[in-house]
Amino acid sequence: MADQTLMDKLVSLAKRRGFVFQSSEVYGGLGSVWDYGPLGVELKRNVKESWWRAMVHAREDIEGLDAAILMHPKVWEASGHVSGFTDPLVDCRTCKARFRADKMAEARCPQKPSKAPGEHAACDLTEPRLFNLMFKTFMGPVEEQASVVYLRPETAQGIYVNYLNVLNATRQKIPFGIAQIGKAFRNEITPGNFIFRTREFEQMEMQFFVKPGTDEGWFEQWREQRMAWHHALGLSADRLRWHEHGPGELAHYAKAAYDIEYEFPFGWQEIEGVHNRTDFDLGRHQEHSGKKLEYFEQASGDRYLPYVVETSAGADRVALTVLVDAYREEEVEGEVRVVLGFDPAIAPIKAAILPLTKKDGLPEVAQGLYRDVRRRLPAFYDDGGAIGRRYRRQDEVGTPWCFTVDHDTLTDQTVTVRDRDTMAQERIAIDQVPQWLIDRLGMA
Ligand code: ATP
Repeated sequence: MADQTLMDKLVSLAKRRGFVFQSSEVYGGLGSVWDYGPLGVELKRNVKESWWRAMVHAREDIEGLDAAILMHPKVWEASGHVSGFTDPLVDCRTCKARFRADKMAEARCPQKPSKAPGEHAACDLTEPRLFNLMFKTFMGPVEEQASVVYLRPETAQGIYVNYLNVLNATRQKIPFGIAQIGKAFRNEITPGNFIFRTREFEQMEMQFFVKPGTDEGWFEQWREQRMAWHHALGLSADRLRWHEHGPGELAHYAKAAYDIEYEFPFGWQEIEGVHNRTDFDLGRHQEHSGKKLEYFEQASGDRYLPYVVETSAGADRVALTVLVDAYREEEVEGEVRVVLGFDPAIAPIKAAILPLTKKDGLPEVAQGLYRDVRRRLPAFYDDGGAIGRRYRRQDEVGTPWCFTVDHDTLTDQTVTVRDRDTMAQERIAIDQVPQWLIDRLGMA
């Protein structure tokens, strides 16, 4: 049974503390579209920056790209999305609910008591119909078939159609990769579980172009690297696992596919896919565009269409994973404290600066420290309420360290550092605080 209460608590904390709000909430919200508030935007940026550092800056053999959301409609014909990016949809004529035919076992009929669709006497299900998940819109002032464009349902195609541009503009040789972070849109039939499955989301995708025959070795290397990245984000290793796509699941173009799954309160679910897509995509674009997309390997004189190993993760889904994994409740002196135990590198706020009282010159000193820290790192100033309550407020949003300015600071120029996880306190020199933080965060 899914631990729904944890999700409910998380959704409520996310709203109350400014991580995630429902889109257009004043109008009753828009189905499965979410907005990131002040803390959420920092958290998601940190996830994306960690990915970009690992996939682009730390590697000589990967280049970054930011392709447009709108692409030539022929891209989606070539990729197979126009004809095949569909989910089988089942409607109930009685209660008007909609289900994905391939997820009926997990679905619940809205009628009580809770049962699978079709199990109530009143259920009247239609046969499955294929429903295309791409959002369509029109380019230019005329709404006619000729001007249809799509909001991209994945970022990968922007990489394929630019692969020769990137190759020609850089000194890369195969094997090399192109990485991109950007929005994708899918008109999901059964979105839900907060920001897990939404209709507008961000993907972090990397396509690695390799010589056919070397693809299996690269596939294994990328599987290893990607799992290591999730571990480095601080996610619990025992809640991460691999799921191999079996013959029935494997996309027709893929030679091998593995998902990295995380154990959410609603079950084990995919957070990233690693796929060996062969030369399917480049082959299709070559065929549909009529442009040669082959690679000429100077050293061997070989000419070939590269194979592609893809790693594809959702930034929102990873942000949710980080939130779920970080959430804990602890009893401290008879009270429950809620902690988001983020790895400091992805915590939205790195340091809180707290004057013990609002008098005796403490706020002035604390403000000076706040200015000093804020120039380098996201910091927060709080002078409201009892110090214990202020610590709790920071625990709840995952701030790793609080610095308290008290009366001793005025005489010995030291402050108390309080650790979020251990709640242990130590004193350090006030002028050492920024460097202390930079060292702890492993920043240069
Ligand atoms: P699912 O089976 O869950 O629909 P998928 O296999 O279609 O996902 P991919 O096309 O492989 O997913 O997309 C790669 C990644 O993009 C997923 O691992 C996920 O992190 C993210 N993603 C896909 N669809 C959504 C969505 N609707 N909302 C949020 N993230 C998504």
